[in-house]
Amino acid sequence: MELSEEQFTRYARHLILDEVGEEGQEKLLSSRVLVVGAGGLGSPMLMYLAAAGVGTLGIIDNDRVDLTNLQRQIVHSTERVGALKVDSARAALGAMNDGVRVETHAARLDAGNAAALIRGYDLVADGSDNFATRYLLTEECFRLKKPLVAAALSPFEGQLSTFRPYLGAGHPCYRCLFREPPPPDSVPRCEEAGILGAVAGVMGTLQAVEVLKELQGLGDSLDGTLLIYDALKVRFHRIGIHKDPECPTCSIGAAA
Ligand SMILES: [Zn+2]
Repeated sequence: MELSEEQFTRYARHLILDEVGEEGQEKLLSSRVLVVGAGGLGSPMLMYLAAAGVGTLGIIDNDRVDLTNLQRQIVHSTERVGALKVDSARAALGAMNDGVRVETHAARLDAGNAAALIRGYDLVADGSDNFATRYLLTEECFRLKKPLVAAALSPFEGQLSTFRPYLGAGHPCYRCLFREPPPPDSVPRCEEAGILGAVAGVMGTLQAVEVLKELQGLGDSLDGTLLIYDALKVRFHRIGIHKDPECPTCSIGAAA
């Protein structure tokens, strides 16, 4: 892939970095990333991934933009209240960088469509807000050997990790960390619990950074580490995650 003159200018601040350069930029431009959810995490993530020149961005979300979303879901706008979030996000991303291809999937990720969808991408970024999706992505990304960069939010806290359990020993999955989903409705979603909007921005932006690093093989991966951000105490913690030899997803009876 040859960079065009416009691309040389647009990505100039990447190109002057020894760690990225033309090779890294070309990797980004030829990458395909699936972002699950165009909400609080997906909004900043999509914007930074599009700005960075990730060549193809898939977005799956079946929701429509609601006025209450705009306190944190910054890819959407007041005039697009009522529109499908995937269409609203596509409009914003296109206005920022029309060199990025945006593939929209106005659907809810489920066991019936997950594999076919994930197969078409190099990496999956989970910006969903529910455990069913989180466990489904864990399962399918392991099976299809796709890196999964996953974040989760609570009102004043965020968590982030990268999962590559198909690499074998030393590479845990989300289920190694949390074996079973909590009982339904025991963990309220943003809609019910509330959230300081910018906390979603911090986590979605961190998630974008980790996606860009994974795509280029840059620096240290969060694989095997859970990063926790405590906004009220202004602290970041790192917790090691160990592969569970009894994990029903990535260990027991798993090919890897
Ligand atoms: Zn596991």
